[in-house]
Amino acid sequence: MPQICNEFHYCPICGSGLENMLIESKVRKKCPGCSYIHWGEYSVGVGGVLLQEKRGLIVQRAINPGRGRWTIPGGYVEQNEKIADAVVREMKEETGILTEPVSILAVKDRPEDARGVKHDIYIVFLLRYVGGKLFPDPGEVMQAGFFSPEECSGFNIAPLSLHVIRKAIEYGEQGCRNPGFILKEDIQISGSLSELFILP
Ligand SMILES: [Zn+2]
Repeated sequence: MPQICNEFHYCPICGSGLENMLIESKVRKKCPGCSYIHWGEYSVGVGGVLLQEKRGLIVQRAINPGRGRWTIPGGYVEQNEKIADAVVREMKEETGILTEPVSILAVKDRPEDARGVKHDIYIVFLLRYVGGKLFPDPGEVMQAGFFSPEECSGFNIAPLSLHVIRKAIEYGEQGCRNPGFILKEDIQISGSLSELFILP
């Protein structure tokens, strides 16, 4: 496995020189000046399922990776951004539609991305329509629209996107309004910006 952590020499928090230390059975870069430990390289992506009747909103990507492929709208979470804010932002940027999060439907874990040096986690939200008209961003999206699972099963669509749209429709048919983990604000958790998503 590539030792990407060896490329880091200085602490990103306090600037001290990092030292090699045996931590939890591996040599890792640790800062002697503060508590920072370089655990690895990670990215977090979010995707949003927005339904209109029994159709899900999907976009055809205009840029690589996956140019021409249809997916639910989404993208990467910024460093200091809440995942729920990221999915709302990405949905607005890509489609022009303002939404709010309902619940977390799925989490995809991808310990090795294409280059094998980064761990990627992708979180799928169910979203609720708040306002705005469908106006795809031509820079990121070739076209966008609401399609039933039957209509889009012939598309070059990401299997997970199709699956979560199907599941969201199924839950709606069963009368379940917030399937999955929901934001819980009355439980105390530590850390600024921290939010807790938990089963209702
Ligand atoms: Zn430090």
